[in-house]
Amino acid sequence: MLGYDELLDRAFTMLPKLSEDKSDFKIPEAESLIQGSKTIVKNIAQISDAARRDKADIIKYLTKELASPISTDGNMLSISARVQPGALNDKVRRYFETYIICKECHKSDTKVADTQRGYIVIVCEACGAIYTVKNYQ
Ligand SMILES: [Zn+2]
Repeated sequence: MLGYDELLDRAFTMLPKLSEDKSDFKIPEAESLIQGSKTIVKNIAQISDAARRDKADIIKYLTKELASPISTDGNMLSISARVQPGALNDKVRRYFETYIICKECHKSDTKVADTQRGYIVIVCEACGAIYTVKNYQ
């Protein structure tokens, strides 16, 4: 038999991390294919539009995370490594969860207000939250 406090704890832990009623934002999926020793990402513009960040910013993040050089050609990225779609989308998801989706209100209306040594200051235009996250550069 569980006590009331334990039931409350359990109810909280069962809440989804990003609740659907607060935000209809969907993290975009990277469309990629492996060609020889390279991985081509076909929809970087769609991802950067959803993030409201420069393509260059996302490329910098992926270059660091994947430890591989990345070149661009319009809407396509060419990663100098074989990256499975699941592994690539894990990185994209983490990018959005860390840098794009507001920690307070879970909306995606954030922008980079400042870059300090080792940290980025994120401001949420939806709820006004201001917080820092570790920089990836
Ligand atoms: Zn917010």
